[in-house]
Amino acid sequence: MIPIAKPMIGSVEIDSVVEAMRSGGLAQGPRVQAFEEQFAGYIGVSHAVAASSGTAALHVALLAHGIGEGDEVVTTPFSFIATANAVLFTGARPVFADIGEDYNIDSEKIMQAITPKTKAVLPVHLYGRPAEMKAIEEIAEDHNLALIEDACQAHGATCGDDCRKAGSFGTGVFSFYPTKNMTTGEGGMITTDNPGIAKQARMLRDHGSSRRYVHEMLGFNLRMTDIGAAIGMVQLKKLDQFNSARRMNAAHLTGELKHVAGITTPDDAPGHVFHQYTVRVAGVDGIRGGDCMRDDLVAHLGEKWIGTGVYYPIPIHKQPLYRKLGFEDSVPVAERFADEVLSLPVHPAVSEADLDYIIETMKEYFENHVEVKL
Ligand SMILES: *Cc1c(COP(=O)(O)O)cnc(C)c1O
Repeated sequence: MIPIAKPMIGSVEIDSVVEAMRSGGLAQGPRVQAFEEQFAGYIGVSHAVAASSGTAALHVALLAHGIGEGDEVVTTPFSFIATANAVLFTGARPVFADIGEDYNIDSEKIMQAITPKTKAVLPVHLYGRPAEMKAIEEIAEDHNLALIEDACQAHGATCGDDCRKAGSFGTGVFSFYPTKNMTTGEGGMITTDNPGIAKQARMLRDHGSSRRYVHEMLGFNLRMTDIGAAIGMVQLKKLDQFNSARRMNAAHLTGELKHVAGITTPDDAPGHVFHQYTVRVAGVDGIRGGDCMRDDLVAHLGEKWIGTGVYYPIPIHKQPLYRKLGFEDSVPVAERFADEVLSLPVHPAVSEADLDYIIETMKEYFENHVEVKL
């Protein structure tokens, strides 16, 4: 099987973990602090605050910005559920704005979604593809909104001509889950240039304490372990290499698949780090496309030992938990893309021979379908 994701753990990570364990420091300690400093340096911000997961980091980031009951947060319906759940955790209401061809929130739609209750905008750099941060940053400034970036799939992604890193425009949030571009096992990170936000985040992840056993506010235990940080520091050194392997694999796939009728390949934005390589499967000459064909293709590729992913088959506003918010039919692009997207293996462990096999299998599938139905 060619898996859809594979963590790249080598002997250096293993040695680093053993060293952390031998030191006796298992919970949050000096390794977490060192990892935070290195990560802040990599993203190009002055502060990074580690957390136990990307979800925890999103929750803490929103709370650090004072988001809560009665507030609205404009976000995308086309993401992992954690993005919107973090808004609900705070008591605020997620407001879904539709996406564009790049799978990310559409800045025009953000404008239309803003009300007097809007306190923050929460774009996601989905699949490692940077969102339109220049436009979104301007909207946030003009309307005095907090800007929180869900960069959980975009470690090292860059936006714009000056190549600023995702997570450095507003308050950045990262996940280090094993399928992401780099891992700590479970883990997350908040990045910011704002010392006040960093301070709030540090307290919120650790029982609201400013000093040991002094509790300023109601906080949580959402800390990262030194064992996780020991993995993360090694992974961070390899991140640029991992990302360039992903970009090369993506270019290889697009070079061949873009000629296949029925497949829409992803755009190759310069700073895209291809957390996922996602195509859309639309109808081919008289054949119904959408979820019917997509799901058939998923099954077919599975039979051929090619792992695939559908991120995400149900947009967030259509999830049972979110239906009562009433966004059905208001975000048609997200609804259509949810039926058409299909992600193919692109991670650094995918070989050139694997890519050729994936391409051949895809081409064969589409050729046969066209023949049968015409
Ligand atoms: C993975 C992910 C999260 C959550 O991260 P965890 O570490 O799994 O909690 C949030 N948002 C997006 C877009 C993600 O891909």
